[in-house]
Amino acid sequence: MTESPEARAAFLREELQRHERLYYQDAEPEISDREFDRLMAELAAIEEEHPALRTADSPTQRVGGEPTEGFEQVEHTPPMLSLDNTYDHDEIEEWCGRLTRLLPDTEFEFICELKVDGVSLSLLYEDGVLTQAATRGNGRVGDIVTANARTIRTLPLRLPASAPARLLVRAETYMRRSTFAALNEERGAAGQELYANPRNTTAGTVRLLDSRDVARRRLDLACYEWVQPADDAEERPSHGECLTALAEFGLPVNDSWRRCKGLGEVAAYCNEWREKRGELDFEIDGVVVKVDDPELRDRLGATAKAPRWAVAFKFEAEQAETVVRAINAQVGRTGAVTPVAELEPVLVAGTTVKRATLHNYEDLARKDVRVGDAVVIEKGGDIIPKVVSVFEERRGPESKPFAPPTQCSVCDETLYQPEEEALLRCVNAACPAVVREAIRHFASRNAMDIEGMGDWLVGELVGGGLVRDPADLYGLTVEKLADLKKTNDARLGEKAAARTVASLEESKQRSLSRLIYALGIRFVGDSTASLLARRFRTVDDLAKASAEELEEVDDVGARIAESVGAFFDSERNQDLLERLRAEGLRFEEEAAAVADEGADQPLEGKVFVLTGSLEGMTRNEAGARIKALGGKVTGSVSSRTTYLVAGEKAGSKLRKAEQLGVEVLDQAGLEELLAGAGSRLAHTASRRRPER
Ligand code: AMP
Ligand code: ZN
Repeated sequence: MTESPEARAAFLREELQRHERLYYQDAEPEISDREFDRLMAELAAIEEEHPALRTADSPTQRVGGEPTEGFEQVEHTPPMLSLDNTYDHDEIEEWCGRLTRLLPDTEFEFICELKVDGVSLSLLYEDGVLTQAATRGNGRVGDIVTANARTIRTLPLRLPASAPARLLVRAETYMRRSTFAALNEERGAAGQELYANPRNTTAGTVRLLDSRDVARRRLDLACYEWVQPADDAEERPSHGECLTALAEFGLPVNDSWRRCKGLGEVAAYCNEWREKRGELDFEIDGVVVKVDDPELRDRLGATAKAPRWAVAFKFEAEQAETVVRAINAQVGRTGAVTPVAELEPVLVAGTTVKRATLHNYEDLARKDVRVGDAVVIEKGGDIIPKVVSVFEERRGPESKPFAPPTQCSVCDETLYQPEEEALLRCVNAACPAVVREAIRHFASRNAMDIEGMGDWLVGELVGGGLVRDPADLYGLTVEKLADLKKTNDARLGEKAAARTVASLEESKQRSLSRLIYALGIRFVGDSTASLLARRFRTVDDLAKASAEELEEVDDVGARIAESVGAFFDSERNQDLLERLRAEGLRFEEEAAAVADEGADQPLEGKVFVLTGSLEGMTRNEAGARIKALGGKVTGSVSSRTTYLVAGEKAGSKLRKAEQLGVEVLDQAGLEELLAGAGSRLAHTASRRRPER
């Protein structure tokens, strides 16, 4: 090929985008997956060789970049509000009555849409390129998850020239039922814990730190709102016109929406989809009814919580009738014992349900659920279905109240009922159920992320006595693991064993914050763990920390401080830590990754925005170095921005920075600044003014 790399890359990008559209949106692929992968590999190779040709909208960017520690935040303007809920047609009528009271003598036209049950995203396109995707967060401030959103294949990375220079879109990202089923099938085969439902899986996926993992999950997208600039004087399109326009820009819009003239038509739409929801390859939890006219929307406005011009018509959670076969006790990582109803399998909302949670023994007693009872179960948004009610009148004469266990079903230890807690606990730290949960947690994705350490394997290892605590994991060898195969035919081959051992070895390099989280200290979730790692920097300093010192950390109150203290006081845990240390796990945070708060934070108070591509480092890496020195990195340029770091091919952000008079650093300028700050000479670092 004699084409220039630029021309070839441009050609490939366009081709790949076209094929993606054909494949994902039109479901009419022209080429095989293999051919597609080949084109992708060729483009990746060109970009590898000529990093300057790698654009933000390149399809190669979908496979995900390097993991980031946590997410940057962005303020939503306007905020991403919730919706008021209605559950029947009377309530819709009441809502409509309120509209008429606010704006008498007005004819309202409505747009009805499916309420896709996923996670909302705010998407910003600037000059036709996706520059920011953020989660709803608390509605006012959300997490920036652009790299993750880029992996959504139906999301166009570049819009046609007909799209406006700045386009803000609100959308729902979700996982198709078929994708979810395939994912769970894969997990089951690998002996991993199954995911509860597509919605929760989506929520977890969007916030994964490594976008390569996100890419594998194959999320989808449905755009439902074009946020029009408020100060636009021109006549604005109606909501229906907006949906049509978004679709024309290539954005995925679910085409089941309908314009409805009166409440009768709205009701018909709601009823129709309540019936047909099972036919969809994705879950919807209702319908959203919106006023079509932008003018009327403005006049109706919003409450603090929700717009007045829209309302959700929620479908009831799906219920079914079945029979309780048994009530078992489940022992969790902290020794908490919860009752679980084993059910006669029954189909609810498209999935077979065999178990339902009974929450705790108090709740169970209140509902008086008994073995043999006919019950109503419900599958709402909850992770596990729950028992809602009992048909007491159908009980036979032999029925008797369920007696809570006094002994642990796994280790026989006498169960203990802590004061002020509705649950029972097995306090035996060596209880196999507790150990199993502790190991599962230790190995889980956000903790030490040990590949192959799924439920089945952990169960075998703990059940067989090979592993009694997390440190034992590091004594496993390929032979020991492959031996397990003898007792349980061929579930774990040599190859899988080797992969698991390699992953264990790799996990020794995980960050201190992951290790702290993995230890499973009560109440210490991953974000608290990372704050603790940042503040104390070594396991030893964390172990030595007083309650007062602990409570200086954001998010840490008396309850967490006490729990951390108790953890390190335990001799058993001290022994565990010594053994983990001896295995070579990271007990200290790398100096570069964490800088001292205060004195060693020369970039404290400086706000950076990174744009364009940097040579030899990703933007994430650059961001991490800035943060390590106390700087802040945000996604968009404003008057509060101290520096814009502009790499190759910087676009609209550079222009904005210039307009606002924000200082612009090129790569050399950034490196100088970092080097200077690193040796605490930040004030002498040279800065560059933008060239004009
Ligand atoms: P709720 O979470 O119950 O407050 O409902 C509001 C959420 O519904 C929004 O944040 C979106 O995530 C979601 N949603 C799903 N489909 C739509 C739609 N067509 N229009 C508006 N919101 C939607
Ligand atoms: Zn036990």
